[in-house]
Amino acid sequence: MKLCCDTLVTLSDDEHVGRRGCAFLVYELGGIPFFVLQFRTVDQGNDERLVGAVRAESNARGSTMGTRISQEVAMRFCPFCGTEFKKWARRNPEGFRAIVAKSVGHVELPPVRSSHG
Ligand SMILES: [Zn+2]
Repeated sequence: MKLCCDTLVTLSDDEHVGRRGCAFLVYELGGIPFFVLQFRTVDQGNDERLVGAVRAESNARGSTMGTRISQEVAMRFCPFCGTEFKKWARRNPEGFRAIVAKSVGHVELPPVRSSHG
């Protein structure tokens, strides 16, 4: 994977994407690219098991206990080398398409609204 620096290459490898911890993902929404760091509590696919465990614990204690399974933080610049992502994407269209393709299925996109009503 060709990216602006080795740290992002590492954060976009198979050890990070879809795994608990931090990953670098890129997606497009309405033609606008979003470059994000995603932080996951559990590996993708274990979401429901964690929710079940938290709910059971919450019921047992008679209290409300919540947790965030994943969260994305959008960025304009690489936090590791300072590269502006949009400029990088323009100069490296193949690398951009590759990281977008790799990110598919790992981010929860908001529902697409129909313009017809
Ligand atoms: Zn970088």
